Amino acid sequence: MHPGRFRYHRAASLEEAATMLQQLGDEARPLAGGQSLVPLMKLRLARPTDLVDLAFVPGLSYVRHERDEVRFGALTRHAEIADSDAAARFPILHDCAAGIGDVQVRNRGTIGGSLAEADPSGDWAPVLLTHATEVRCVGPGGQRTVPLREFILDAYTTALGPGELVREIVMRAPPHASDERIGGAYIAAKRCAQVYATASAAARLTLAGDVCRDAAISLGAVGLTAVDATEAAEALRGRTLGRETIEAAAKAAAAAGDPQPDMRGSAEYKRVLAGALVKRAIEIAARRARGEQVEVSHEYA
Ligand SMILES: Cc1cc2nc3c(=O)[nH]c(=O)nc-3n(C[C@H](O)[C@H](O)[C@H](O)COP(=O)(O)OP(=O)(O)OC[C@H]3O[C@@H](n4cnc5c(N)ncnc54)[C@H](O)[C@@H]3O)c2cc1C
Repeated sequence: MHPGRFRYHRAASLEEAATMLQQLGDEARPLAGGQSLVPLMKLRLARPTDLVDLAFVPGLSYVRHERDEVRFGALTRHAEIADSDAAARFPILHDCAAGIGDVQVRNRGTIGGSLAEADPSGDWAPVLLTHATEVRCVGPGGQRTVPLREFILDAYTTALGPGELVREIVMRAPPHASDERIGGAYIAAKRCAQVYATASAAARLTLAGDVCRDAAISLGAVGLTAVDATEAAEALRGRTLGRETIEAAAKAAAAAGDPQPDMRGSAEYKRVLAGALVKRAIEIAARRARGEQVEVSHEYA
């Protein structure tokens, strides 16, 4: 199918794009990799009057990594993140980026577009929620920084105002003592490469030996937004990591989701799947925190 008629504009800077969007009105949309917007336009589920292309704005595609902070330009492609030094330092980034869609989607789709789309099954939000993540935005009112938790408000709904754009995403690992090690992992279960996850789980642990000093657990595709499973993290914090604590955390995480039945599976199936993914994500995060190199890929069933 072909999209409806629209006017195409090319912005030279984000500020210019923000001004254009404001002038063009409510039905104008920014275009990044086009991997969500263009399919929706072809299905006539989105009918923008104008597209403001961000792809030619210079300096928006980068992964900058310094100590425990990673900064992503909004136009950074998933493939670029998968291949970055930051993904070697934080394997959870590779777990996520290397499994999004297929090669074509990863070579075109951007992290900024992904967060702005706020698809409940998107892979980036659960991963970034396990770290302190901020979204830096620019718009007609100037620049502002929004914590990720306050950026995604609902399914397909963000805190972005009219004409406002994502400029940069900043992810930070939590501060930790010299005897503590951090590990993270993300696993998504998908029916095949070209579709979104049926359920997904991200875990970030801070370990001192076998004791979990800090944790964050989040889920994707089992709610209207990514779910911050705080009770699951609480079940790990301050405890020795073992089969029972991991089981308790997985159970708490599964209870935190609110999955809806659809063509991917029943609500009960997704809940059980989410619990199993959390368990494995915790186990892999723990092995990584202990210095083990563990390869993870999305799972296809
Ligand atoms: C076949 C297929 C499979 C996919 N599988 C997955 C998957 O498994 N996991 C997953 O997470 N994603 C998946 N995706 C989506 C993919 O990750 C997209 O890249 C992503 O959702 C949107 O990024 P984009 O750069 O393509 O944005 P676009 O499609 O260009 O834009 C998406 C939305 O964000 C807005 N927008 C874009 N950039 C900005 C910005 N800088 N500031 C403000 N608003 C902006 C646009 O106006 C639009 O509303 C899949 C897509 C396809 C086509």
